[in-house]
Amino acid sequence: MRKTKIICTLGPASESSEIIEKMILAGTDAFRLNMSHAKHDWVRDIVPRVRAFARQHDRDLGIMLDTQGPAIRTGVLPHDLQLAVGDILEITVRGGKSAEPNSITVNYDELIDDVSIGDVILLDNGLMQVRVLAKAENRIRTIVLTAGTLGSRRHINLPGVHVNLPALTEKDLADIALGIELRVDFVALSFARKKEDLAHLRRILRKGGSSAQVVAKIESRSAVKAIDDMIRATDIVLVARGDLGIECPMEELPIIQRRIVKHSIRIGKPVIVATQMLESMIHNPVPTRAEVTDVANAVFEQADAIMLTGETTTGRYPVECVDVLNRVALRIERSGGAGYAKEAMLEDSRQKTVAAAVSLADSLPRARLVVFTRHGTMARYVSNLRPQHAPIFAFTPNEDIYRQLSVSWGVFAVQIEFTNDPNATIKAAERYLLAKGLAGSEDNLVVLTDLHAGETLVDCVQLRQLQK
Ligand code: PEP
Repeated sequence: MRKTKIICTLGPASESSEIIEKMILAGTDAFRLNMSHAKHDWVRDIVPRVRAFARQHDRDLGIMLDTQGPAIRTGVLPHDLQLAVGDILEITVRGGKSAEPNSITVNYDELIDDVSIGDVILLDNGLMQVRVLAKAENRIRTIVLTAGTLGSRRHINLPGVHVNLPALTEKDLADIALGIELRVDFVALSFARKKEDLAHLRRILRKGGSSAQVVAKIESRSAVKAIDDMIRATDIVLVARGDLGIECPMEELPIIQRRIVKHSIRIGKPVIVATQMLESMIHNPVPTRAEVTDVANAVFEQADAIMLTGETTTGRYPVECVDVLNRVALRIERSGGAGYAKEAMLEDSRQKTVAAAVSLADSLPRARLVVFTRHGTMARYVSNLRPQHAPIFAFTPNEDIYRQLSVSWGVFAVQIEFTNDPNATIKAAERYLLAKGLAGSEDNLVVLTDLHAGETLVDCVQLRQLQK
């Protein structure tokens, strides 16, 4: 059983029911909807289709709605611009008009105030660079420094500049309302800058009646600087390497990734590593050796999940990409992991009880961790300690929790009703595991559950041997 979860972004290359189903069967654990591109009608169509496949295949698939956030993006172009070195490109704001053959609009009027003559602006995830020559009448006149093709809604980065857009724009609020209506499982905050932004998003979700988890996309220097606060304030951390690799010196990126993964595990939050994991597979059916090694590195670091972006939105081989991640993860997991969980903080007695259960499971042959969890907390504690061999079966009566566990390392979630008799619930779980071939006779079940002790509930660890 693979421990590292796989998240795939949906887009034109993967929107058909046929491809979605194939991606699920190839091992996708959760899908991401990128609201920088997705239209509401499209989201309304695709979410129920994903849910239907999940039910059909008895899978705890999660859905993540990823907000655009305070990102600067180029406007919609009637056709792509082919730009050569030395070409003039004008960027217009506040309805400004350009007489140049190459001009683009942006969603951020203050861009003209934030840039100075001589500054370099990065376009399309840093693939192209232009230098500011002049500013006048709502036009920024730039010269192209690196040639390329510029399409609609491409990212513009101004490394180190504090962009004066609110953490959640009007568009984000409308997108989040849609996510609440469709009961998505995770909402990601792009360019999360400070912990208050994450708390604000959580308040909006709870006010709307959503229990979706908050995902902090770490993609700016300020977020990296405040990383421990950000990890504490969020439910899930996402290392968004696309923008992070532009905002920070690229040679820092591997160190930043490792630090975020390490700190997330230490503090106890699931962490996702994303972007350009199999970039060449946008065009080719096989990855480069360097990409395989990058995926292997994230798996070795024991990130909870690895995430595909362009590979599955516009790439030619979305299903093959999932297959590659699945194969590489399974193989690398067999070779061991970085072991950052040794430094995981055990702050309360529940975490200490879980640590005892994980250590017991690590010491036993044929061990299976079986955790009964109403809110997902105990299951996440188990996952965070990265048990060495035992798979983690998390039984929950709650459908939202069942789906939210889709991105937690090593967790296989099962939705069952809990009865008033804990022993009967454990027996039902045992029957499930046997029937599905997930555990066999004489396997050692390390069971984490709560039991009534007089008036109070106490956490309890049991060692049971499975009998047919
Ligand atoms: C990223 O920057 O790596 C990322 C996942 O975010 P987006 O796709 O919104 O640029």
